[in-house]
Amino acid sequence: MIGKRAIPWAGITLAIMTCLGMAAAGVDFWLYLAVVMIWLGSLWLALPESEAKSPQLDAEKASRDAMRETIESLGHPLLVLEGSRVTMANSAAREVLGAHVVNQDARIALRHPDAMRLLDMDDGDSVAITGFTGGRSLWQLTRRHIEKKRWLIELIDRTAESDVSRAHTDFVANSSHELRTPLAAIIGYVETLSDGGPALDEAARIRFHEIVLREARRMQSLVEDLMSLSQVEAEKNDRPSEPIDLVKLTARVVGEIGSIQGRERLRTNFPEGEAFVLGDAGQLEQLLRNLIDNALKYGHSEEAVVIEVLVAPNGDIALSIIDRGAGIAAEHIPHLTRRFYRTDPGRSRAAGGTGLGLAIVKHIIERHRATLQISSTLGVGTTFTVNFPAMPDVSAAKLS
Ligand code: ADP
Repeated sequence: MIGKRAIPWAGITLAIMTCLGMAAAGVDFWLYLAVVMIWLGSLWLALPESEAKSPQLDAEKASRDAMRETIESLGHPLLVLEGSRVTMANSAAREVLGAHVVNQDARIALRHPDAMRLLDMDDGDSVAITGFTGGRSLWQLTRRHIEKKRWLIELIDRTAESDVSRAHTDFVANSSHELRTPLAAIIGYVETLSDGGPALDEAARIRFHEIVLREARRMQSLVEDLMSLSQVEAEKNDRPSEPIDLVKLTARVVGEIGSIQGRERLRTNFPEGEAFVLGDAGQLEQLLRNLIDNALKYGHSEEAVVIEVLVAPNGDIALSIIDRGAGIAAEHIPHLTRRFYRTDPGRSRAAGGTGLGLAIVKHIIERHRATLQISSTLGVGTTFTVNFPAMPDVSAAKLS
């Protein structure tokens, strides 16, 4: 501890020089002793005072170190402000704002005009800032009082939550719009039929009734797809456990679709024997129906649609639906599984499409821990391939 005491070097030097001067001048011994005693006394009195300052400084330093360690260990960005100066920033904050913010004025460090308001706010107040780290980012900054002039600024990235809520709002708006269009047509034609009923000739009446029926069916498909989407979304974390022979299931679905439409266009290419996956039969059936339906809709009407199942040597299973048609331009491919995304909205609606088929497929694929691959060449055609992981224990599954 002695090494940390504040030693009064100036006093000591002055005292030594005085003593030497007095000795040289031949001062009386008692006077000399008195001066030495006074000097020792003053040094004695001075020491406790200088000793008292050290622990205070030590405590301050220890408290800063502890605070630095604490904020460093926390995951989200934190700044410590003394007055308006940033005195500490943990690594998460340095990553977001840059290491240079330490020792900067908070107004410069936080950059954004909305963040300035925070400096005059009370303990616990927060401000939400759009574009704080650029683009559509959304951050919530909260000011918390620590002690005296020391404040903590907590930065929480709310971008993901805001994206989810925006996607939700967009989805509700898009769904309402998709439902409103056929509903408006139905109301319009029914009004015309009832108002001008007698004036309308038979052919017009039949045509209007057909339109009403078509639009009502369109609404029905949309409601069914919306319900399917919400169902698959609700189950997305629940891993399917039923062993399903994909060859048998695909053959049945192809047979059922073929009995209604496009029988002559559907071709299959299956392996010898079975191809088991862990799945949900209802959802796999829906996946097949959506992909085959799209291939029939968007492929050339006189070209075949091939449905293929391949088993890799490691047990992985690939299900492909291959059509020959106009194909899909590369820039659309990454967006195809988004809800209501269509490369050609007019064509999709005319073919009875809801814009939700591939969004449903995507959720089913995720639930089955499978992956989707889309390859397309303009003017040639498109292949959708679903890659299922091998079953953990095929023989056990076959026995069950
Ligand atoms: P839709 O009900 O419009 O068919 P989907 O979600 O099933 O909705 O498909 C989204 C869009 O992807 C379609 O509107 C279409 O533009 C495109 N698409 C899907 N499958 C094919 C395909 N086999 N060939 C060409 N385009 C396709």
